[in-house]
Formats: sequence, structure tokens, C-alpha cells
Amino acid sequence: MPIKLMVFENGSTGMVAICDVCGKRCADADDANVVWFPPDGDDRTGDTFDVTITCKDTCSRKLMSHAEKSGH
Ligand SMILES: [Zn+2]
Repeated sequence: MPIKLMVFENGSTGMVAICDVCGKRCADADDANVVWFPPDGDDRTGDTFDVTITCKDTCSRKLMSHAEKSGH
């Protein structure tokens, strides 16, 4: 699950995106990617998909390489 709550240094809590490949926090939105693999067939209203978040290009490439091997 790429979205989590994190306790920050000042004691407050907020939502953060966690890279599904390396497990680090996606601190820079400019480098982050959101990837999803919809099921085969037509999209229907109300369909939901799991999303994967990666923090940078190297993690995205690892994810896509793994997805290709597993048939996505
Ligand atoms: Zn990463």
C-alpha cells in the first residue's frame, strides 16, 4: 500500500507516499511515478485498480521490468 501515515519530527502526522520498489518515502513529487495495471477488458464505472508508486526512474524501470516478466 503506497500511501501511509507518517509521524514527522515536529510530532504531527500526515500522509506520505512510499515507493513500492525501494520502500523509501517519495519526498519529491517531480521524481515520483504512479503506475497501474488495469485488468483486461473494458473499463466500467466503479472499477478500481491498485496503484503502485515509485520514487524515481530507476525504481520505475525495475517495476516495469518485473511487470513484463510476470505478464503485464
Ligand atoms: Zn524507490
